[in-house]
Amino acid sequence: MSEVYTLKQLYEMQKELDVRIIKEKGLEGVDLLPNTVLALQVEVGELANEWRGFKHWSNDQSPRTKKIHSDRDAYLETNPLLEEYVDCLHFNLSLYRQLNLNISNYLHEDLSGDLTGLTEAFIHAFDWASKIYWATTTKRPSMAEKSLYRLTDVLLTIAKLLGFTRDQIAEAYIAKNKTNHDRQTNGY
Ligand SMILES: [Mg+2]
Repeated sequence: MSEVYTLKQLYEMQKELDVRIIKEKGLEGVDLLPNTVLALQVEVGELANEWRGFKHWSNDQSPRTKKIHSDRDAYLETNPLLEEYVDCLHFNLSLYRQLNLNISNYLHEDLSGDLTGLTEAFIHAFDWASKIYWATTTKRPSMAEKSLYRLTDVLLTIAKLLGFTRDQIAEAYIAKNKTNHDRQTNGY
């Protein structure tokens, strides 16, 4: 993922969070895959919404990469586009754990040369996520595995097309992972 953090390390952080949620919410033995696929699709939608490039009816199609939050006298700047991106990545990594796949076996293929652009990339992301669901419910593990690898290809290609560096992604991922732990602690 970056010089400092690999996809595998982010996966380990996701696994720790997932295991905690499963334990604290009493979800042992529950098939969480349908909810996770839908959650991922919702996040892909949220990401597209912050990207805005598909809104041909709007005069404002520029991505939302800067948001200022004021907290008393402190100002905090966040990047909504990047935050939605890492939300997608969280659920993507969670699916590796749920399908018992070793993230180290994933070999990245850059799809940017095969895609017409971000709109198509988003449509593919929804599509591969759906395929993971259908392959799992019809007990076709190799199709589920292949679909998850393609989903990861698409998501990493979306990062490239949005101009995110690996370090930016890792940093935002780690920050959101901490937020998610805090939310569990505080009864989110
Ligand atoms: Mg989100």
